[in-house]
Amino acid sequence: MSTTPTPTPTTCETCGNHYDRPLVIEHEGRRRTFDSFECAIHALAPTCERCGCRIVGHGVQAGASIYCCAHCSAAAGDGTLRDRAPAS
Ligand SMILES: [Zn+2]
Ligand SMILES: [Zn+2]
Repeated sequence: MSTTPTPTPTTCETCGNHYDRPLVIEHEGRRRTFDSFECAIHALAPTCERCGCRIVGHGVQAGASIYCCAHCSAAAGDGTLRDRAPAS
């Protein structure tokens, strides 16, 4: 018997909306329930460390940081993904 209350499967955990056709995503071993992709993205998608946009594609990972694109990675000063040396 688990003491953790299990949320109603049809309740979106982001906005609390009740939906009869929920979107169930297993993420890092946990079952997450949403009413829409937008809510799932809001809860699960990482955020670009430079521009703050949601990364819904593959993104660019540089060490522990994640960016939406290589441009953000370079602009944030993370040199690992640069393909050429800076001009100065
Ligand atoms: Zn929702
Ligand atoms: Zn970005």
